[in-house]
Amino acid sequence: MKNDITSIRHAIRDIPNFPKPGIVFKDITPLLGNGALFAKTIDILADRYREQKVDTILGIESRGFIVGSALAYKLKAGFCVVRKPGKLPYDTHSASYELEYGTDSLEIHIDAIPKNARVVIADDLIATGGTAAATAQLVSKLGGTVVECAFVIELSFLQGREKLQPYSVFSILQYDSE
Ligand code: AMP
Repeated sequence: MKNDITSIRHAIRDIPNFPKPGIVFKDITPLLGNGALFAKTIDILADRYREQKVDTILGIESRGFIVGSALAYKLKAGFCVVRKPGKLPYDTHSASYELEYGTDSLEIHIDAIPKNARVVIADDLIATGGTAAATAQLVSKLGGTVVECAFVIELSFLQGREKLQPYSVFSILQYDSE
């Protein structure tokens, strides 16, 4: 397991100053491109939730769709999405969250989650936690229970975990600094 995690870490590429100066972007495309490591990543998450009676995996646009749908398949759970405004065709609920400058929002179909569903929220990475916190709000609004928020990568130094309280957070890899 420790070796697997080290291999996963080595398959993530740092791209300095993307998408803007000062940000180190964690590029997971080399990880996704390696079949064995992509499978290991999903297996780690699936092992964690296998006994948790998860009904639905909720993927956050857009890399959360990749991680989340593979996890849903593995767990035989349903899969649903939260998207940027204006992308979903049916009636939606929305939740706003703060960015460094201004606010952004996310939308979910009003019938995306069965009533009382046990939901795991999935994304590639947690930074400040704003995106996942807004997503957790949407799950609550739809009457679902957040089992946990699951990430491949956690930028621990940004303390996104705190913003997500009282929700539980799991990440495969933690980074203490950029
Ligand atoms: P936050 O709301 O600050 O936790 O940001 C999380 C969202 O932004 C996730 O959907 C990530 O994919 C993306 N993101 C934020 N920072 C980075 C980064 N340094 N590298 C890659 N993706 C990032």
